[in-house]
Parts: sequence; C-alpha cells; structure tokens
Amino acid sequence: MSIDKLKKGNVKFTKTFVENKQLYLDLVENGQHPKVMWVGCSDSRVVPEFIVNANAGDLFVIRNIANIIPPFDAHDSNSSSVLEYAVEHLHVEHIVICGHTGCGGINAMLKGIPQDSVINDWMQHAGKAKENAEKQCCGDLEINTIKANVLLQADHLLSFGYVKKRVKENRLKIHKWLYEMSNGSILFFNETDEKWRAL
Ligand SMILES: [Zn+2]
Repeated sequence: MSIDKLKKGNVKFTKTFVENKQLYLDLVENGQHPKVMWVGCSDSRVVPEFIVNANAGDLFVIRNIANIIPPFDAHDSNSSSVLEYAVEHLHVEHIVICGHTGCGGINAMLKGIPQDSVINDWMQHAGKAKENAEKQCCGDLEINTIKANVLLQADHLLSFGYVKKRVKENRLKIHKWLYEMSNGSILFFNETDEKWRAL
C-alpha cells in the first residue's frame, strides 16, 4: 500500500468519522474505558479490531513480534508500562493474549535467528515455548510452539504482582487465544480439559 493510498484512506475515514461522530466524540469527551487489553503480534495480517469486530475505544492494544509480554524481572519498560496502565489505571477486566498461525517470529526462532539480531534478544522471551513444544509427543512443532508461546506469555503476566492479585480476586481474567489466519476463526485454550477449542 502506497503512502498516497494511506492519505486518501484518511480522507475516506473522515467520512466514516462523521457517520460515527457520536462514538468518537464520546471517546474524546469522556475518555477511553476499554475493558480489554489485547496482546497481539505486529503481523500486518492480524488486525485485532478487525478479527473481533471491535470499535475504537474497545481494546487497549500492545502489538510486538510474537505477542510477547516479557516477565516482570526482564524489566521491559515498553510492555510493562502498557500493562501497568491497562490494569492499574484503566482497570481492564480482561487480558487477551492472541497468537496466530504462521507467526513469522516463532518461525524464525525455530529456524534460528542470527545472534547479532535484536530480534534474537526479543525472542528469548519465547524460548521456553520452544522447549515446551519440543517435549510434546505429537503434532507440528511450529503450531505447538505458537500455542505454547501463548500459554507462556500468560504465565509471564502472572509474574506481575498486581496482575496476579487481581486474577486471584476474580477482578481480571486472562484469555489465551489463537487466530487461524486461513479462515479467520479463533481458538481458545480451555483450562478445564487443557485443549484448544473454537470460541
Ligand atoms: Zn506473528
């Protein structure tokens, strides 16, 4: 998509803006009150608002390579500041970690990333997912790692005391999702039987 197309796209958007003026002005006047924080991949094919049909103001979003939230002791101020703001200030009730099929970040980790690449440093936060997937008896290593990474990042969320506390008090729920790029559907990890099921 060219920059020119983006510029024209904004002109088109302003027409949509007029049609939804009430929603947008309400967000300006009354601020944002999203109930959901979304942790997604930067992949251009997986657009959070599109895949769950959400509006402006619905999702507080962080996207990065392979939908990662480094654990508390990694001191990643980017992701942890988004998390802190979402939980401590916006009081979101849900955090969705959404992985996706065909994730380039996970794929690169499995194939091996050059040591001097900063992506290699970043993907260390998903390294345990690879180890966990390699222990599994069956299935495809890539998809198993993608799924294991969603579970791992959900664990990382619990390394933040304020997240753990709210989850324990049932004020916050963590959702582990997987977006299937070939058909647009989403699977969720069912805690009861530990299986991935359709939403
Ligand atoms: Zn990805």
